Amino acid sequence: MRLRNVKGSREAIVASEFTINEPESHKGNWTEVFGNNKPIHIEVGMGKGRFITDLAKANPDINYIGIEKYSSVLIRALEKRQEVELDNLLFIRMDAEDICDVFAPEEVAKIYLNFSDPWPKDRHAKRRLTSKEFFNRYNNILKADGVVEFKTDNRPLFDFSLEQVPEAGWNLVAHTFDLHNSPMNEGNIMTEYEEKFSSMGNPIHKLIANR
Ligand code: SAM
Repeated sequence: MRLRNVKGSREAIVASEFTINEPESHKGNWTEVFGNNKPIHIEVGMGKGRFITDLAKANPDINYIGIEKYSSVLIRALEKRQEVELDNLLFIRMDAEDICDVFAPEEVAKIYLNFSDPWPKDRHAKRRLTSKEFFNRYNNILKADGVVEFKTDNRPLFDFSLEQVPEAGWNLVAHTFDLHNSPMNEGNIMTEYEEKFSSMGNPIHKLIANR
């Protein structure tokens, strides 16, 4: 994602009713933040937030939290968020490395990873959101029957992810190298990157993993 500094974005995010500042203070108490016991699904690296906003519109019985590292990107999700009436969608600006400080064990029912940064250099492999180090973090916050769903058009990152699932002690529930021509596409909601790359002819890969 190309990052341009968006003036005032950090201040706007802190002031917004739709972003949670100091998310660590809500660890174990996210049901209180939403005011109900609906399951919590998160997207890590949500970018401009189209996918999670569409999910929140389609599934009022699920609470969604979008996580994004950069203010200049999250502000775009916030602009979209302000145009819709939803009580099941919040955002956090944070680095997902710290996700275990924000969610308690079993607090999250599902984790979405979409078009995550590839970090192509081997020495940066631990930063990939589908590395075994990240699966270990997800292991700490996901419900016992929780799942991780990952989509990308980046074949080397997808192949790496397919290897990391068993290395982390997880199970590969399903996968496809061509989502849009697969039965797994039923009910698929496109992300911004998915629309862009599939319109260029790139096949979209998807995997689902659990423990
Ligand atoms: N998921 C969106 C989509 O599919 O259109 C955006 C994809 S974009 C390539 C990846 C996003 O993940 C970027 O906005 C980036 O800032 C965010 N990201 C990458 N690593 C992250 C991390 N460790 N914690 C939080 N966000 C992260």
